Amino acid sequence: MVELSTLAKYPFLNASKTYVKDNALSVEELLDDPLYERARIIGVERLDNAFKDRDVGNRILATEYDCVMELLSYPIARMVAVCIDDVYFKRRYALGEAVHVYKNLIGESVHFLLDISKEFNLNVKHREDANKLSIYFTDYLRNAPTRYKKWKMINREMKAGYIHISHRDLARLIQEALRSRINNELDARKCNRVISDTFSSDISRIKNKVMMHRKKMEVAPVGKLDIEKLPPCMKEILAAIQSGENVPHMGRFALVAFLNSLRLNTNDILKLFSSAPDFEEEKTRYQVEHITGSTSSTAYAPPGCDKMRTYGICPADKMDELCKRKRHPLSYYKAKWNKNSKKEE
Ligand code: SF4
Repeated sequence: MVELSTLAKYPFLNASKTYVKDNALSVEELLDDPLYERARIIGVERLDNAFKDRDVGNRILATEYDCVMELLSYPIARMVAVCIDDVYFKRRYALGEAVHVYKNLIGESVHFLLDISKEFNLNVKHREDANKLSIYFTDYLRNAPTRYKKWKMINREMKAGYIHISHRDLARLIQEALRSRINNELDARKCNRVISDTFSSDISRIKNKVMMHRKKMEVAPVGKLDIEKLPPCMKEILAAIQSGENVPHMGRFALVAFLNSLRLNTNDILKLFSSAPDFEEEKTRYQVEHITGSTSSTAYAPPGCDKMRTYGICPADKMDELCKRKRHPLSYYKAKWNKNSKKEE
């Protein structure tokens, strides 16, 4: 039997769902009953905190009442997030939940982490005698933020398909698994009318905040770059980064090398990436500078269309007529650019 305080800290667990089911709580009760008002307040607080701080925030869990309210605030926050109906916001909220869980997980025992790994079907092995953890490489690749140096396969020790990881690494992999699970679940749900009516003022307030944030971060023409003239592949990668999707390393690499070839400097490139819900300036700067050659001896050239296809980052369904005549994303961009300048002449 899992303790109530654990369910409150980890409301995504199967045991947490069972608790809600066993107590026969209906959506109507959660939304109407004065008994659950505190849960409704915390639900909205989770969303606000996730948007502001990328963490749904800590609350005191001293009594049974605190724990129940905290636990119930999770499904409420999710239902409201669905009704806010904004991909950027949903990604940011999912990140806020996942980051919060990560912070809690690093303080938990290895056995607790192993139990949670099972809920995400992560194939993790623990050698008790040597206190060593390892994860099957496909699960590692699916969840590791390989855009960061430390997570690249080349920097990892692998034996018989299992990659050695630390306790903290496992917590981070669970964070990523949870984040993508929440993203998928939120995307698959539809807004419930009763929820949108009950939380109408919070929903419009948050929507407004998201809009203001967007305006602030809006990609003002950076340097000489014209987003509209980007080839479909680069548009896709940029949009995925900006909405916080897990873009494979090759996609990030191709985009940065492409932008660098257009003579955008590191700050301009960072500005383009800064609207991503999980944007971390220092880490992104490091990666960008590595690709552009500021911190390495080589400035990498952007891949051509053939290579883009091989890496699966040329979106066949989005290719247009110009794509058929070009063999490199750069020549696509230049052709559009020249066409436009001729029109203006
Ligand atoms: S054909 Fe080339 S330019 Fe067009 S989307 Fe594919 S990779 Fe990009």
